Amino acid sequence: MKRILLLLTTFMAGLVMVSQGLTASADTTPNYVITTDATYPPFDFQDKNNQYVGIDQDILKEIAKREGFTYTLKPMSFNAATQSVTSDQADGVIAGMSITDERRQVFDFSTPYYKSGIAWAVSKDSKVKSLDDLRGKTVAIKTGTSGANYALSVQKKYGFKVTYFNDSETLYRDVINGNSVATFGDLPVLQYSIKNGTQLKVMNPKDPFEAGEYGFAVKKGGNAKLLASFDKGFAEIKKDGTYDKIVNKYLDASASTFTGNKANSTTVWGILTSNKKAFLDGLFETILLTVMGIFLASIWGIILGIMGISQNKFVRGTATTIIYIFRGLPMMVLAFFIYIGLPTAIGFKIPAFVAGVITLILNEGAYTGAFVRGGFEAVERGQMEAARSLGLSYGVAMRKVIMPQGIKIMVPSFINQFIITLKDTSILSAIGILELTQTGTLIVSRNSQGFKVWAIIAVIYLVVITLLTWLSNWVEKRTKA
Ligand code: GLN
Repeated sequence: MKRILLLLTTFMAGLVMVSQGLTASADTTPNYVITTDATYPPFDFQDKNNQYVGIDQDILKEIAKREGFTYTLKPMSFNAATQSVTSDQADGVIAGMSITDERRQVFDFSTPYYKSGIAWAVSKDSKVKSLDDLRGKTVAIKTGTSGANYALSVQKKYGFKVTYFNDSETLYRDVINGNSVATFGDLPVLQYSIKNGTQLKVMNPKDPFEAGEYGFAVKKGGNAKLLASFDKGFAEIKKDGTYDKIVNKYLDASASTFTGNKANSTTVWGILTSNKKAFLDGLFETILLTVMGIFLASIWGIILGIMGISQNKFVRGTATTIIYIFRGLPMMVLAFFIYIGLPTAIGFKIPAFVAGVITLILNEGAYTGAFVRGGFEAVERGQMEAARSLGLSYGVAMRKVIMPQGIKIMVPSFINQFIITLKDTSILSAIGILELTQTGTLIVSRNSQGFKVWAIIAVIYLVVITLLTWLSNWVEKRTKA
């Protein structure tokens, strides 16, 4: 027990050191962490080789080259991308982000690099003619965006309901499928998607509601050096024509569209082969999270379970409270709390992967703790009494008599918990971990093949779950023998 505790503390200390190390090294060599929303063509998306491209990405790459800094790109939902910057988890964000007065309170923006405005769109064959037709209907909006803010500002006037999405492609799908009747979003982005086959139509192409501009952003008062480099590099690429070239590359009438790889990847096989690397990387990340989560949450859960049957009231109470709290918190709330909330309070970055593993330890560990405690309690009371009357001490009786029997009772619950842990890793896509689910989101934003891509992802999960179940059953049989 002591050894396990020691192991766990060492591991935690290791994690903290790694995360601090990352922060420290960022100070010496300018390698910045920059977040983006990779579901936002033509500004930010993945090309068919799973490279991050788009107007924003090309601008950033070019500026970094000229200004001599490097960066690690972290794709996530727009909302998480901006919050990562305000919570010091990232140094900057480039994501087709509109410069607004409200945001200026918390961000410093670069020179504006692209003009935009808010449009509203409906499905291609919709009968909706004016905003008044939206009364009583549902409008799809993207969490944390200026389009969403605009929709909310006119919501009362036109009497519609709203539903939120984290990525643009899923949102468009919702409107096309008719679950919602309209959406509010950036005009150039909507137009680009429509040009590339999204079955929507823009209702106010000539007069967008709020003319605005996009900027690269850092946290207010922070990262002035990065912002200055961006502005300096931007002025240069604007002057020598590189900027125009980049924009034309994506928006020229003759520009090849981002779904240019569509033709060969509309079959399941085509999608699989053209995204082989992305699927494999995502799968690897999911497995890594699962293995670390299962291993560490089991250790933590066993500790909690043992504490839960302690003779000491205080120890028992502590275990009960920890189990109560972490079993009660939705996993996504916990993940956001650790990834977005905690860093501001403790003053250093927690890499998304580490935040994800800690989330799994706390959440899955609480469930494990509960059934481990239950398993021990289920061992007949008489067993303890018999052991004690034979002269064994409490500790020895526990180790030699109660635990071996309790563990047998728990094995099915452990297997169950392992499978749940695997499935729960998908929730961690919310904090930008590029595991299997997030991989699916990015691929769908590129090829619009939601049905097939999600079917592929589902099958991959089922295969891994089957393998995990086999492995667990095999272990179970061996422990029985
Ligand atoms: N331009 C919008 C905003 O800044 C949307 C950005 C996005 O969805 N990536 O809120």
